[in-house]
Amino acid sequence: MDSAARKDSGKKGEHVTPLGARIALRIAATGPISLADYMAECLLDPKHGYYATRDPLGAGGDFTTAPEISQMFGELAGLCLAQSWLDQGAPTPFVLAEPGPGRGTLMADILRATRGVPGFHAGLRTHLVEASPALRARQREALADYEVTWLDGLQELPEAPLFLVANEFFDALPIRQFERVGQGWCERVVGLSNGSLTLGRAPAATRDDLAPRLSDTAEGDIVELNPTATAFVGIIAERIARHGGLALIVDYGGWHSLGDTLQAVQAHAYTDPFAAPGEADLTAHVDFEALARAARGVRHTELTPQGAWLERLGIGARAATLARQLTGPALEAHEAAYRRLTRPEEMGSLFKVLALYPDHAPLPPGFAR
Ligand code: SAH
Repeated sequence: MDSAARKDSGKKGEHVTPLGARIALRIAATGPISLADYMAECLLDPKHGYYATRDPLGAGGDFTTAPEISQMFGELAGLCLAQSWLDQGAPTPFVLAEPGPGRGTLMADILRATRGVPGFHAGLRTHLVEASPALRARQREALADYEVTWLDGLQELPEAPLFLVANEFFDALPIRQFERVGQGWCERVVGLSNGSLTLGRAPAATRDDLAPRLSDTAEGDIVELNPTATAFVGIIAERIARHGGLALIVDYGGWHSLGDTLQAVQAHAYTDPFAAPGEADLTAHVDFEALARAARGVRHTELTPQGAWLERLGIGARAATLARQLTGPALEAHEAAYRRLTRPEEMGSLFKVLALYPDHAPLPPGFAR
């Protein structure tokens, strides 16, 4: 997410929420839990989970995202998907999919922007993967004019050409953290200290999956794994390798993870991830290298800054066209939104785009070789 506030390094908190009390009871009974289990409960617990119970997006919420900032983001993502669909011979029918669609704004902008692409709407079957009942209801409203199927998981995607966009989805998936100790690794786990949830270390163990990281880390370094994210990318890549398609993965993060990137945001400000379980958004930087490695059988583009990708897709011209219809505060807001999406000091370089596409397909629009 995009937030002006600074990260709080303190990571010890009081379990003041109902969910926090329940997690503390569970830990007292059966021992510390992984950070991934903690994150999954905080975000998706059906009764108290952060996403499960609320709509966190927008000015009145906790954070905002690119599609909520300007319609231009979804319009250009839609044209990128549609051009790639045309380049691949307009396969019909095909699946247009979005995991983690938030308020449905991005998909609504994609569908509106692609109405004029001959055959695109006739061929598409829209599928949304959403875990939150509260957000499914928002998506149903935003997409009331379209036929949409909701899925509980990416593994349920039909076997068909897959054109998919994921914006700020992978950063919400639960991470595990490991601290280097000698030639082994201690998992960072959530335990209790004087009744409060607090971060601790499990005993050191050797781990085959982290063996490659022994060469680029030092004692005490932290590395993160996101098993859910790599499994999801595996499913997406398999569909694209078999049937064709394109996946646009937009998120904040980098290539090759190192260090603790877990963060909590509440009311547009960073907070302690253990202070109010279920009431703050928890995310981690996306390690795009790990996603690219998990994308077997397909090609991936260079990891591209969001600003550069949008500029290559023509956001400058689109912004100018929209500006002609606006005056006063609306024009100022539009210009600020354009800057926010593209400028390196705003979201333009923190946010990155990685695309997955079939071996024999042309490079998707907006990317360079
Ligand atoms: N893409 C939207 C919203 C990002 S917030 C935007 O750009 O505005 C993250 C979204 O992912 C929410 O819709 C949340 O409910 C959903 N989500 C998080 N974890 C999920 C999971 N494991 N399965 C399905 N959806 C999930």
